[in-house]
Order: sequence, then C-alpha cells, then structure tokens
Amino acid sequence: MVNTNPSFSREELKSFKDISFKLGSNSHLVQAAGGNTSIKSDGRMLIKASGTWLINSLDKDIFVEVDLNSITEKINNGKEDNFIDDIISKNNLHPSSETSFHALIKHKYVLHVHSTTAIANAISQSSESDLKKYLDEDFIFIPYCRPGFTLTMEIKKLILPSTNILILENHGLIVAGDDIEDTYKLLLKIHKKLDLIRNKKLAFDYFEEITNIDGYMHKNADKYKLFSTQNEKLFSLFSKSFYPDHVIFLGPGIPTFLEVKEANEFIQNLKRKNINLPPYLILKYKGLFENTLAIPAAKEMIDCFLEVLLRIDLSKSLKFLSSQQESELLNWDIEIYRQSIN
Ligand SMILES: [Zn+2]
Repeated sequence: MVNTNPSFSREELKSFKDISFKLGSNSHLVQAAGGNTSIKSDGRMLIKASGTWLINSLDKDIFVEVDLNSITEKINNGKEDNFIDDIISKNNLHPSSETSFHALIKHKYVLHVHSTTAIANAISQSSESDLKKYLDEDFIFIPYCRPGFTLTMEIKKLILPSTNILILENHGLIVAGDDIEDTYKLLLKIHKKLDLIRNKKLAFDYFEEITNIDGYMHKNADKYKLFSTQNEKLFSLFSKSFYPDHVIFLGPGIPTFLEVKEANEFIQNLKRKNINLPPYLILKYKGLFENTLAIPAAKEMIDCFLEVLLRIDLSKSLKFLSSQQESELLNWDIEIYRQSIN
C-alpha cells in the first residue's frame, strides 16, 4: 500500500487508524459521523474529515492532512476559519468542524468522543464538582459552547500545556497524549468510571395493545421500554436536547404526546405545511415510535439518547440546550419553528 501521508510513519499511521476504528465501532463512544481523532507530526496534522464516520477508518480514506502551523496562527489571532486553505492532502475531503481544538492541544494524539457516560455526567448544574468525586483524574471542565471555533476559544482560556483530559459540558470527552495506546486506554478508563446506570428500573412494562401512529413503527424491543416510563421527571426530559448531535440528527427535542390523537393531528399539520416529519415521536406510557424513513444516523442517535437517559442522575438540576443554542446548531430559528408546528 502506498503511504499517502509521508509526514507520518507507516507504523504510527496504522496504530492511529486502528484506534480510530475501535472508537468508531463503539456506539457508546461514537455515533454516526460524531467524534474525531488526529495525529500531529512536523507541523502537519492528520484529522478526520467532516461528515465521515470513524468506523470507516480502515477501509476508506476519511482523514485530511492540514498545515498545523497555519491553523495555529489563525487560532492565536482568534481568526475563525474553515481551514480549507490549509489542506495539504488531495482527496477532496474537508477537515472536521472540530479541527481547531485538535490543533490547539499540543499532544501528538487527540481523541474526541461523544461518550454516553461522559455526557450523562456533564449535564447538571453540579457536574464539575460531581465529576471531581467520580474521577480521580486531573481534568479540565469546559462550559458548553457551540462546537467549532467558539468552543476552541473557550478551551484556550482554560487549558494548561499539561492538560490531557477535557470534559465538555453537554457535549463529550477529549483525551490527548503522546502515545496512542496509552491515550486510548485512558479514554476507555474514564468512560468506564462514569458508567453509572441509574434509571434502568424506571422502564415501564406496557400491557395494552400497541397504538399505531401514521407512518411510524412502535420500537418495542426491551431496551426502548424506558421511553414508556411512568416517572414524570424522566418523561419531561424526552422533549429536551442535551448535546449538539442530538439536535442535528433528531431535531430540537423529540415531540411527546399524551394521546395518540394529538400525535396524529401533529403529523397531519406538518404534512399540510410540507414540513419534514421528525424521525421519532414519544407517546406517554406507550413509548417510542420511529418514522419508517428514519436514516441510520438518527437510529444511532436515539440509541445514544437512551444510553444517556439511563445514566442521568434525576435528583440533579439538569442543564439542557436553550432554544437559542439549538438555533445556532441548525442555523434556523427554533422558536419560529415551534410556533409554526403547534
Ligand atoms: Zn464533538
């Protein structure tokens, strides 16, 4: 095989791609095109391309080589950029929208994942102090910011040269290091330490005949029973969004209904207005319904949401994304949308 990235040795590229694939294959760490990895050498950085899936690390060309010095200069000048002019490779891919923090962190390897356990423990008012109790690791807690350059600027304010663990509020986890195996092991260790299942018994066993919603299928596998819960607080969380990819793939909160009639009226209303139907709906005490046209990324994201919900501490005061934060992720006004569909 021809080495298309001569700035990096064949061996280090191989282990980097192996670990990227392992991360991408674990749906508790990476869902769909989420998460990204990078390796640096001699003023260059190889980073996952925008829109590609880490699970394809071994069988597809999903990485882009970029000029690290030029990107670093832009970060130092606070100049927001898509880094298209800094691309060195010739594969027509664009660097991840999260490229800037990979460049900012000086370690050779940076691994960023949307760990379901890290998210579940980074969405309450007391997350930072609670995490200090659960993790006896030196980490930096980064308050929520829109992913991309804004987030990188926030990280820049708080990071030290030695920082190798960052927990991103309402977003995920970054682990960095100079040895790929050690960095990967540290990431798994943190993910595992935060794996505190709290809400399994809140799933509710329904006995009634399952209702049909036009164009949707009831998700009746055992694990989805959590969505039929009788716990009011848990039910109230179903229509919230807690992290960026949830908004991007499932929309600004999953529509929830008390009665099947309301759900059907909602669907008719969207159809009349030619508005796309959401991939999922939730009916109280009955559970989750999937649009028959739901795309694979949405299916990965609903499973991610389920795993996060299982691990949320319901006794805490939780932080979800505001309408404004949802709007800046989707580039449209969520309030206008909500008014138009209700
Ligand atoms: Zn991310």
